[in-house]
Amino acid sequence: MKQYLRLLPAVHELQKDPRFESLKSACDVNSAQLTEFLQRELGNLRQRLLAEETAVEGTVPDFAGQLFKSAETQIKLWQEDRLARVINGTGTVLHTNLGRSRLSDAAIAHAVRTAANYSNLEYRLMEGKRGSRHDIIEELLVEATGAEAAMVVNNNAAAVFLILSALAKQREVIVSRGQLVEIGGSFRVSSIMEESGAQLVEVGTTNKTHLFDYEDAVNEETAMIMKVHTSNFKMIGFTEAVETEVLARLTEKHRDLLFYEDLGSGALYDFKKHGIGDEPLVREVIESGVDLVSFSGDKLLGGPQAGLIAGKKDLIDQLKKHQLARVLRVDKMTLAALEETLKSYSSGPERVAELPTVRDIIRSASDIKIQAQSFINLLQENPNKYQIEIQESTSQIGGGTMPGVEIPTFIAAIVHDSLSADQLAMRLRQAKPAIVSRIQEEKVCIDFRTIADSEMDELLAGFLASESQV
Ligand SMILES: *Cc1c(COP(=O)(O)O)cnc(C)c1O
Repeated sequence: MKQYLRLLPAVHELQKDPRFESLKSACDVNSAQLTEFLQRELGNLRQRLLAEETAVEGTVPDFAGQLFKSAETQIKLWQEDRLARVINGTGTVLHTNLGRSRLSDAAIAHAVRTAANYSNLEYRLMEGKRGSRHDIIEELLVEATGAEAAMVVNNNAAAVFLILSALAKQREVIVSRGQLVEIGGSFRVSSIMEESGAQLVEVGTTNKTHLFDYEDAVNEETAMIMKVHTSNFKMIGFTEAVETEVLARLTEKHRDLLFYEDLGSGALYDFKKHGIGDEPLVREVIESGVDLVSFSGDKLLGGPQAGLIAGKKDLIDQLKKHQLARVLRVDKMTLAALEETLKSYSSGPERVAELPTVRDIIRSASDIKIQAQSFINLLQENPNKYQIEIQESTSQIGGGTMPGVEIPTFIAAIVHDSLSADQLAMRLRQAKPAIVSRIQEEKVCIDFRTIADSEMDELLAGFLASESQV
């Protein structure tokens, strides 16, 4: 096959080929880009011929044709979204790997408007003077939480870091051993504390921490008592933790001793009303007397990635002035999306359903069953190799939120004539948009809690495309 090497076209010949121009316009690339792809494919083909891997058919192989074809394939792959859309069939509403919250239409529209235009991000229109981006969201956050003051940073991990750095550097912070958890892949309170320069003082045991444990640990070096939401971790059995109110009373007795609670998710909507979990409202936590709370923007709140801090005005002022506030600041698109998300909360319970996260969490199982049935009907209108049935199941909230809480749902459980569940799930992940399912008892399961009506046609198309390539 090596004798074919001299028959390989040169790049300048490919550039003169009429297929060069037609591929340029078909793929929307310029000459330089197309040349680069062709060069790469030519190099690969030369390697394969040298390795004698490529079977050559016919007398004179159409190398140019092969090269244009493989270049086109590579260009199309390169052009695909790297941050790609996914249909979430797992039923886990706050799936950290799938981007946590979907934004409301109003939040999306405001983020897009803000991205496309100039704005008063740091400008006071009345005075024609420099302003602060902190002013944009503060009033809404104060309304939503009942706190004196509030601010926004990049995410809740950043909020924890800022609070510890600004208010507890080189001083002691008391945390219960039962709350020193690792959240997600990489967030450990103990590590963040070390980075911030604050000194961790662990009290109590893994399962029980009493008020006297805290009392005994307080001294002149203590800057703060920190309570951490155990988020993705639930301890059952012989356990005890000290209530927020009790810790608030203890810190009040000591001058300059702060009480900070990292709420993790931080609910602005009362999911308890629907019998879902026992997450306190941020407002309730503030009322019980903490000095500061922080929580995520893209967990139960249902907004963009952000870290929200609320609490005493003098403390928030100190945080705003700290150098790290500049390092951890959020973009205008985040502020825009957050503004609309918070407005949905202040406009009463009907508007809360505009937030996909809240809507999906409180969706009733009977509503989900109707959607699952309609998918099955759609699928059965097309001849296919699937056996599909509705099953009762449970969904999780996810995102390290409300561990152990399982909400009733309905799933479509699907078996393919010849593919295993793993094989089918893999095909579905390669569909456009990708479909992520869960596998239970060797069946591919789609939980409709996290599927929007507007995604039903694409879900169907993805299933039909995946069964027929066998
Ligand atoms: C999720 C979580 C964090 C991290 O929040 P991000 O917004 O993901 O940075 C910190 N603390 C607790 C308790 C959490 O649950």
